[in-house]
Amino acid sequence: MAVVALKNVGKQYPGAAGLAVEDFNLTTHDGEFIVLVGPSGCGKTTTMRMIAGLEEHTQGTIEIGGRDVTGVVPKDRDIAMVFQSYALYPHMSVRDNMAFSLKLKKYARADIKQRVEEAAEVLGITPLLDRKPRALSGGQRQRVALGRAIVRQPQVFLMDEPLSNLDAKLRVDMRAEIIKLHRKLGVTTFYVTHDQTEAMTMGQRIAVMKDGVVQQIDSPNNLYQQPANVFVGGFIGTPAMNFLDAAVENGTATGSGFSLVLDAARRDAAGTRERLHVGIRPEHLHLAGNEADGQSLRGEVEVVEPLGALTMIQVRVGDTKVTAQIEPHQQVAMGDAVALTCAADKLYLFDADSEDTLM
Ligand code: ATP
Repeated sequence: MAVVALKNVGKQYPGAAGLAVEDFNLTTHDGEFIVLVGPSGCGKTTTMRMIAGLEEHTQGTIEIGGRDVTGVVPKDRDIAMVFQSYALYPHMSVRDNMAFSLKLKKYARADIKQRVEEAAEVLGITPLLDRKPRALSGGQRQRVALGRAIVRQPQVFLMDEPLSNLDAKLRVDMRAEIIKLHRKLGVTTFYVTHDQTEAMTMGQRIAVMKDGVVQQIDSPNNLYQQPANVFVGGFIGTPAMNFLDAAVENGTATGSGFSLVLDAARRDAAGTRERLHVGIRPEHLHLAGNEADGQSLRGEVEVVEPLGALTMIQVRVGDTKVTAQIEPHQQVAMGDAVALTCAADKLYLFDADSEDTLM
């Protein structure tokens, strides 16, 4: 177990126009589970490869267990990696696949046997130890790949989209398995995904990245409740937060098809701004009667998606498509004219230029 500290870490690939990763600052707790999340190309894999030592960082320092690892080769960093492609050796049994790195390091046979069998037990793959990878399901292969990492008893695990080759159901199961495993072993873990739901369900803290820059590092709950800017607000939460461009006058935010009265705290936060982005989560919108109070968004229903426990509707409000989550018993049809409302204290406000959160 170890604390990993990234201090102003950056990466400039030779010949690339800009930095692939810029000014990454994060100090983990010992044994923490950190998720890196963000759209394709935002620098997640580059960050992992720099921690692993597979890629040199060109700015800042990386410390593992209090030791600056600049110039330390991957095999001496005491980390184990699990990737999307399991890269199991096809001609070797599960047991030999798991033992491979320990044999290379010349561990004693008895020690190797014990570590492999303990890891197999933890992962529930003991009955598979003598099989070849081709005789395993995708989920079982993924477990073997995890087993290979566990036997090394590293200070840090690095997992880069380890579940993306699995079908949806198995992914959900394996997520839970990895969390359980982390709880049992308590090893500091970095986990990469581009799937915000996966990030939210797994991370103790989540670093949300965009264009090489960390936008916010926080607990899942704080990311959802207090996103730092428009990007995080829109990235975390499904369906995504709705955004409306609004003009502010006399404490009311208005635009085509909507009018939202700001409460005292939001009026303060808006200050003298005359324009804002307003954010509203779909779960905070409700169907209103025709007499919607101070808050109303009016438009025509374009899509109705009954999902069983709830129904999603899309309403065209002015030139913005607004998604709202309604109760399944509420009868709404395509083409209906509806009014939506949202409690004043659920509105998010963002600066129109910087897109940073005001409230
Ligand atoms: P994905 O989710 O698609 O895997 P990512 O968030 O992991 O994306 P990276 O693979 O870290 O993103 O890439 C970050 C940026 O660095 C991208 O713009 C990418 O094109 C660039 N990049 C990655 N590897 C190299 C390289 N070897 N040489 C030059 N540029 C690179």
